[in-house]
Amino acid sequence: MGIDHGDFRYLTDPALRRIGDKLAAGERLDSADGLAVLASPDLLGVGRLANAVKESLSGPYAFFVLNRQINPTNLCVISCKFCDFAAKAGDDDAYEMTMDEIAEKVREPIHEVHLVGGLHPTWPFEYYEEMLRAIRRANPVAQIKAFTAVEIDFFAKIAKISIEEVFDRLIAAGLDTMPGGGAEVFSERIRAALYREKIGADEWLAIHRTAHAKGIRTNATLLYGHIETHEERIEHLMRLRHLQDDTGGFFSFIPLEFQLGYTNLVERQATALDGLKTIAASRLILDNFPHIKAYWVMLGEETASMALQWGADDLDGTIGEEKIAHAALATSPLGLTSHKMLKLIREAGRIPVQRDARYRALTVFPSPPEPTHWSQRGGLDVGADIPLKVDPALADSTAVSLENLENEALYSWDLAAMTPEELAARGVPRAPGDPTGFGAAFAGPAPGSTTPAAVAESEAS
Ligand code: SF4
Repeated sequence: MGIDHGDFRYLTDPALRRIGDKLAAGERLDSADGLAVLASPDLLGVGRLANAVKESLSGPYAFFVLNRQINPTNLCVISCKFCDFAAKAGDDDAYEMTMDEIAEKVREPIHEVHLVGGLHPTWPFEYYEEMLRAIRRANPVAQIKAFTAVEIDFFAKIAKISIEEVFDRLIAAGLDTMPGGGAEVFSERIRAALYREKIGADEWLAIHRTAHAKGIRTNATLLYGHIETHEERIEHLMRLRHLQDDTGGFFSFIPLEFQLGYTNLVERQATALDGLKTIAASRLILDNFPHIKAYWVMLGEETASMALQWGADDLDGTIGEEKIAHAALATSPLGLTSHKMLKLIREAGRIPVQRDARYRALTVFPSPPEPTHWSQRGGLDVGADIPLKVDPALADSTAVSLENLENEALYSWDLAAMTPEELAARGVPRAPGDPTGFGAAFAGPAPGSTTPAAVAESEAS
């Protein structure tokens, strides 16, 4: 079934009209379409197309997680040229967290621990296993999303064991899901220029394939806005789509906007327009990824909120204390409150859904009874001195908790696939003014078959 992209009259770029025709006909987009999106002068048309796909997959909802980012050390045995986070022993900014410090930071009401760090010169693999166990003991509720493919490869080398054994031992220690970092750009040209000591595309993809076969769902990233070309960005997306066709193991794709830091790689940061087009191209090309994430830490809060109308359906999380992008001078806050998350999502006209690391929907927050920002209030003089309305009562007092629904695993994408009757039975709010529901247009994994065969098999064993 094709995707309804709205009225052609609003698409001023002929290339976008052709893409709209393909979406309406249910045809898959190709690399040329992705390049046309990145080059299009019609930013609103790009958003219109990507938004149609987003709404066909996740309806009016946008997702976030209460999480805590832990970067246990910045000591790293290699030196990627784009990285301002890594340090060497003896550097003033070098640090190592103790097991107690790590455990202390996760003793919070969170649902995800995001654990990634440098490739430490002396810590043995057993230390990382113990790290997972310490987190699990300190917070039995939070799911652990840990270690990029680069770290997994590193563990295999220092422990002299296979990638499969690394996963088996990490799973036994508490690993739930994997982040998508370390992919950078799938281009040997860029790897040779910026991170020649680190694994390339083939190894990164092979490690994620192994994770999926082991039942570990993962995420994927692209580091854009430095020396890469549009062609290299789109090639990266096509390779991810190919693997997802095989395994179905990816949850979300996260375009990471390069932060200039002290690297002198480029003169200025990617523009917000480039960020929105990259989000949109990702949503359009990665038709088999359930989620596209607008990572507010690197995009900035306002652009990330806007991106929820350009194809993204996820804002990541509250994070707590981000270190990697901020070492590269990111200007976003170190963390956001859940209240701010709700506000950013609602200001984008979306219904907030709190999720866990496995994208199970935990709580749906209804739309506020009135707009929360002056820009959404019809008839008001936007130039007038109107104070921002912040009403704590809107935060969660009428939220619908789905967490304990008879042990049912309600995944984020299930919400968009439900009939209006099913939603009403759960008290879940629907899009204002939507008389028909949005379940019919859902084009993602069918309810009940959201887990790919390989993963289901492995989970059963
Ligand atoms: S990007 Fe990762 S692997 Fe590369 S230097 Fe930084 S911390 Fe080390």
